[in-house]
Amino acid sequence: MPRPSDESTSPADTDPDRWSAKALASALRRHFGHRRFRPGQEQVIRTLLAGRPALAVFPTGGGKSACYQLPALLLPGSTLVVSPLIALMRDQVEALRARGLAAARLDSTLPPDEAAEVIRQWSAGELRLLYVAPERLAGESFRQLMQRHPPALLAIDEAHCISEWGHHFRPDYLKLAPLAHAWRLPRVLALTATATPAVATDIRRAFGIAEADHVQLSFHRPNLQLTVEPCADGRRLDRLRRELERTLKRPGSAVVYVTRQETAAMVAAGLERGGVAARAYHAGLPAALRAETQAGFMAGNLRVIVATIAFGMGIDKPDIRLVVHYNMPKSLENYSQEIGRAGRDGRRARCLWLACADDLTVLENFIYGDTPTPQAVRNLLDHVLRLGPRFDLSVHDLSTACDMRLAVVETLLTYLELEGVIEAGRRFHAEYKIHLLQPLERILTGRGQDERRLLAALLTAGREGRRWRTLQLTELAEPLGRSLDELDLALGWLGASGDAEVRPTRPRQSYRRLQEVTGSDLQQLAGRLHRRCLQREQRELQRLHQVLELARLSSCLTAALTAHFGETLAAPCGHCDRCRRPSKVRPLTDRAAPAVSDSEVGQVRQLAAEAHPALRTARQRARFLCGLPSPAATRARLQRDDRYGLLAKLPFATVLELCEAIRA
Ligand code: ADP
Repeated sequence: MPRPSDESTSPADTDPDRWSAKALASALRRHFGHRRFRPGQEQVIRTLLAGRPALAVFPTGGGKSACYQLPALLLPGSTLVVSPLIALMRDQVEALRARGLAAARLDSTLPPDEAAEVIRQWSAGELRLLYVAPERLAGESFRQLMQRHPPALLAIDEAHCISEWGHHFRPDYLKLAPLAHAWRLPRVLALTATATPAVATDIRRAFGIAEADHVQLSFHRPNLQLTVEPCADGRRLDRLRRELERTLKRPGSAVVYVTRQETAAMVAAGLERGGVAARAYHAGLPAALRAETQAGFMAGNLRVIVATIAFGMGIDKPDIRLVVHYNMPKSLENYSQEIGRAGRDGRRARCLWLACADDLTVLENFIYGDTPTPQAVRNLLDHVLRLGPRFDLSVHDLSTACDMRLAVVETLLTYLELEGVIEAGRRFHAEYKIHLLQPLERILTGRGQDERRLLAALLTAGREGRRWRTLQLTELAEPLGRSLDELDLALGWLGASGDAEVRPTRPRQSYRRLQEVTGSDLQQLAGRLHRRCLQREQRELQRLHQVLELARLSSCLTAALTAHFGETLAAPCGHCDRCRRPSKVRPLTDRAAPAVSDSEVGQVRQLAAEAHPALRTARQRARFLCGLPSPAATRARLQRDDRYGLLAKLPFATVLELCEAIRA
């Protein structure tokens, strides 16, 4: 393994005082080719070398990766990097390998044989950096691996995901702090490009990071000109077209953000009709079309993209001259991240929000639609806690069975873990499909006796189809007297040997039940979980109202936005519309209260009468009419129905009331 051999960067030497400014800078130059540290980097690196945890809040592009990559080369032992972005992980690992550094990744896209090799390398201390997706940490075998061979440094990318105050809370992240404590890691680096003071405090508390070791850079971008302009819904398309025509006279491109997929399609088509070439981009489009649109935009052939928030992860295009929020952003964190994609070349760029208070309803509906009813929480608990002391489940199937979005089910399961009721074990595939590329006898020759016996049993078991043999591992483990791990591994190696095509399917998560909860305890547990869901709802609503407050502001917009992230500007920015033309600022009109027409009532009645299995309850119909995705409706392809989103402009509570009143 390529260890730096010269004295000055000996990994065994972690005495921070040993690192003069010159020696550290020279290590940075040698390993990464950078001439000097960027602001904040050296302080973070020194903190880690001194054996203390740190928090780095740097804007995107600020150079966060070097903050753990350099220590990873200088510290004895290996560094574990947790990152939720698979594409980013891949790029980083490739870049590190190109520099001759021993880096690898473990994520769900890696074939089992390659994953097994990575685990072997980690155990043998051959890796300097290992990138993993956060869900990997839920696996028992992975946790045991880390217990036996703990990392010298744990770096956590997108660390704001650990905080329930954050806008991107990910339940997997909640487990990171208990693990860091269990592994007794002195060095943890939390990294993020977005943290309000409340989120930063949460992160610091979780990992025991001293206030002095929180390194916060300025997020102020003087080249971004913020404008928040009230605009009635019906006038937005025309206003957008005029703005784009003006922008497109000069080089560069533009991104238009909308909330709903339907709006993306509608706005892109409207612009095309008005003579402005534009394409829609959202998660509902086929992957190939999305890739083509993104490539066209990056190459500059397509200059205007109309997108939902699905667009932008990892987009680093220097010449975006205009970012328009056609709809209201769902939080100031989202807003700041989305406008942050403008003017990356440092030249002037315009950020225009066509503010309309009517948007609030759709965004609120998304939030309300995700809060399960007390009964739904209870149903999920009844289902999960009845599965026995050791059980496994498909989160996907559970989400369909309970008709709750995947993210909501995952959150509830995490709450159950945090309550100490269940503990997640390994993730595995319940089913394997195998196609032999060699006759069985040839596959078995040359293998050890034990492996031969196991493979012979496996490859004649299960159901034989025309091309694939299907094995249900959970049914085979016991009769064969083997653990699921062993079967998983044997099939992984079989695939790696090239003797067979091996496809794992049906992912499942195993759990251990730590307590039996019954009777009034169960009632109370369901109540606590439901209250947590309501608290989440309140936080999300509060975030929306913070966005609306920005639109109502008459003073400097830039100052208000930076203040949200805990930074005080010395003076008003002088370049937002409030600073430039204070007399022209118009107040935001309150949202309209649209009424339900007779024909709409008729359609609601008709829908109830149809008694579709995916729309049995009033709540399911209300979600459908508000255009809120639900697993059962998606599965039944009901999103294509004309009535999907029919009442999207109405508050969810009103639609729910209507659906409850009109029953089949
Ligand atoms: P972030 O993760 O904060 O978005 P990255 O770590 O991806 O940022 O770094 C952004 C770019 O800056 C990369 O191309 C990286 O090579 C470069 N970079 C990082 N540190 C330095 C430095 N000290 N000097 C020059 N370039 C740097």
